[in-house]
Amino acid sequence: MTDTTISNALARIQPSQTNAMTDRAFELRAAGADIISLSVGEPDFPTPPHVIEAATAAMLAGETRYTAVAGTAKLREAAALHFQRDLGITVAPAQVLVSTGGKQSVFLCLTATLNPGDEVVVPAPWWVSYSEIVHFSDAEVVKVATTPASRFRMSAEQLEAAITPKTRWLLLNSPGNPTGATYSAQDLLGFAEVLRRHPRVLVMSDDIYAPLRYGQGPHATLAALAPDLAERILTISGVSKSHAMTGFRIGVSAGPQWLISAMTRLQSHITGNACTISQAAAVAAFTGPQDFLLDWRERFRARRDAVVAAINAIPGLSTPVPDGAFYCMVDATPHMARFGDDNALAMHLLEHGVAVVAASAFGGQDGFRISFAADDAVLQTAIARIAKALESQ
Ligand code: GLU
Repeated sequence: MTDTTISNALARIQPSQTNAMTDRAFELRAAGADIISLSVGEPDFPTPPHVIEAATAAMLAGETRYTAVAGTAKLREAAALHFQRDLGITVAPAQVLVSTGGKQSVFLCLTATLNPGDEVVVPAPWWVSYSEIVHFSDAEVVKVATTPASRFRMSAEQLEAAITPKTRWLLLNSPGNPTGATYSAQDLLGFAEVLRRHPRVLVMSDDIYAPLRYGQGPHATLAALAPDLAERILTISGVSKSHAMTGFRIGVSAGPQWLISAMTRLQSHITGNACTISQAAAVAAFTGPQDFLLDWRERFRARRDAVVAAINAIPGLSTPVPDGAFYCMVDATPHMARFGDDNALAMHLLEHGVAVVAASAFGGQDGFRISFAADDAVLQTAIARIAKALESQ
């Protein structure tokens, strides 16, 4: 008989619930069901034509072979330009690593540095893969609970209280998935003060949603605000969410040389380089026109406002206004007695034709996340279905 034992590391983790729910929606649709998927976060806008043209031109020019593991010189330069222009972080191209999606960047930095027993401080609700990657590395998640009242932002006092001698990483994500939590420069300067007292703590700043901020002022990020901490901050960005390029699978990270080298060593045994054609497309995204991003952001803002108002009008559901990204974390506590838990609620909504992701997948509870990166009419139909599903007995 085949021994089907899996590794202890794999046994510690669950499948990604954002991906699992989306796969389920694909399957049901393929079987003829009418399912609206608000489970995955990806812009519905078409990838910009100049990006598609760059990918096509790369293929026709024979750019179809391996590149350096860390990425092409052109893309590392373009990414360095992006980090400077859009995030205010000065970085040399040699301090940039190109990976297969931001998710791989997160995986590499954590698995390259964590040892059993290390602790990782994560404000909750968090993006679904953070906790699983920490568990895969045999490290511990230290959850810092946040609430709608603070717009899901952790305070400097909460951070200080969460740090112990075992703390190795702090994971920040601003604007954040799944809540839209967005830290101000003042919030981050408060964190920097705390971090200066704890020199062993590394910081991952996942800034993938930086262009999707609905408030005033420039994007605030720790590496730009606290250059004295640069030797221990990794900033992650990309083109997936900003330029509607989720399928290209390109993520970029910028940080200290020691960490970039460690991550590159690990990547050399996993994917090697990210897809060559996608790298050419990402150069066009970073160096081409950026003005349409403002138009896209305004369209997301209009959807956000419509979705928040419609959700809050459904009895027993509530959501604060997210300050960034394209997700709403919906509280459904009054419905929990009926459903038992939020997974059962998510399955019930799926039966009524809408795929969402249960809050518990994100270290939250009693609710669900919806992505509002969908067409206005589709969002309207989805919310009407949610309202009907919660009415029915
Ligand atoms: N980051 C997106 C989401 O949360 C894409 C899916 C994933 O990789 O988890 O929906």
